[in-house]
Amino acid sequence: TVCTRFAPSPTGYLHVGGVRTALFSWLYARKHGGRFILRIEDTDRERSSIESVNAILEGMTWLGLEYDEGPFYQTDRFSRYREIIEQLLASSHAYLCYCSREELESMRAEQIARKEKPRYDGRCRERHSPREGVSPVVRFKAPLEGRVVVRDLVRGTVIFQNNELDDLVLARADGTPTYNLTVVVDDMDMGITQVIRGDDHLNNTPRQSNIFYALGKEPPVYAHVPMILGPDRQRLSKRHGAVSVMNYREAGYLPEALLNYLVRLGWSHGDQEIFSVAEMIKLFDLEDVNQSASVFNPEKLLWLNQQYIKNSTPEHIAHHLSWHLGQMGIDPSEGPELAAVVKAQQERSKTLLEMAHNSAPFYREFEVYEETAASKHLNASVREPLRDLRERFKKAPSWVAPALHEILLATVESHGLKLGKLAQPLRVAVMGRPISPPIDVTLELMGQATTLARIDRALA
Ligand code: GLU
Repeated sequence: TVCTRFAPSPTGYLHVGGVRTALFSWLYARKHGGRFILRIEDTDRERSSIESVNAILEGMTWLGLEYDEGPFYQTDRFSRYREIIEQLLASSHAYLCYCSREELESMRAEQIARKEKPRYDGRCRERHSPREGVSPVVRFKAPLEGRVVVRDLVRGTVIFQNNELDDLVLARADGTPTYNLTVVVDDMDMGITQVIRGDDHLNNTPRQSNIFYALGKEPPVYAHVPMILGPDRQRLSKRHGAVSVMNYREAGYLPEALLNYLVRLGWSHGDQEIFSVAEMIKLFDLEDVNQSASVFNPEKLLWLNQQYIKNSTPEHIAHHLSWHLGQMGIDPSEGPELAAVVKAQQERSKTLLEMAHNSAPFYREFEVYEETAASKHLNASVREPLRDLRERFKKAPSWVAPALHEILLATVESHGLKLGKLAQPLRVAVMGRPISPPIDVTLELMGQATTLARIDRALA
């Protein structure tokens, strides 16, 4: 059965590029009724951190990329890696290398002087006695001739010549295993059938394949996904803007909008732009992944987010919006029903962050009026009609939008004003800013008591 994995190194935030390969792996497993594993590659203890592990777990949960097994931690598996290293030494597929740093450096300098590609020349292959006072590393005895044929579902067949590869280190002098060894042991033990990862790992693949062969196993099938680029066609990084998944959560993106954006980055199905997760699972295939890199387009992501906000149920949006309100210290259970507040704003919001800011006045008193809004709209000329309006609202027989609209119309008429001349000051009075859903809907949501209190505040 199909088994895929996402194998991030916890050395920073969860990068959107990583999430895209996680998504492809997850979709592939779901599509084929297989398993999806999360494996934390934390062997580099210096660079790994618990915060970063948490960011990965939190990001996966937020995106709904649930894993069937894991998270596994490579640091829990050192004895297993040791076992395999011993096995490779015993079968003469690996050897101890006592070369000192100086020796390796002069080897390299000589090779460069001879205009050769620098590589370890295998001189310890034939060494049979240890060197005093030197802790050896373990090197893989790479095949000297022949070739490695990599089956890649994105790139097709890729062929590497063994004489281009050198004897890579499997275990460092302190005994800790290296990336190429741990990844092979794990992919083997976990029964990974398709390795889906960034194409920055393509050059590791023949090395990993040779380790598989040395262990008497067939390597998995690979799918190397092209990089995501910034607008300058350099690899997408922090200097292009937000790259951490959590930055997108904080900026008010819906997880399904981000997934939809990422699935289309390098994969397509005709000219369809919007895919539900169920559709992605049904339609996704690695064969349809582009071979060339794609450029990250924040405007398109924003457009998708807006589509999702517009077309999701108010309850669904409310669920995500309440997280944002929580970040702002607002408890949305104290106030109007959040789904109703959402519904009033769905058509217009591009992000949940924007929606959260515009929802806040329904749940707590705003501190200050937006500066230009107050001086523009809450001036002396509006005091009289606003006072009158307050009295009429106080006597309102029912607090629903159509009735409130009638009251507003009657008031502007008796003061000889245009609707906007009173509606906009009223909006600033209750919301603190000149933006809100239609004013009658806003007032209904706000409730009578709060509306009257805020008009009083504006008149004070
Ligand atoms: N831990 C590696 C990385 O984060 C991924 C290894 C793999 O997918 O094989 O780049």
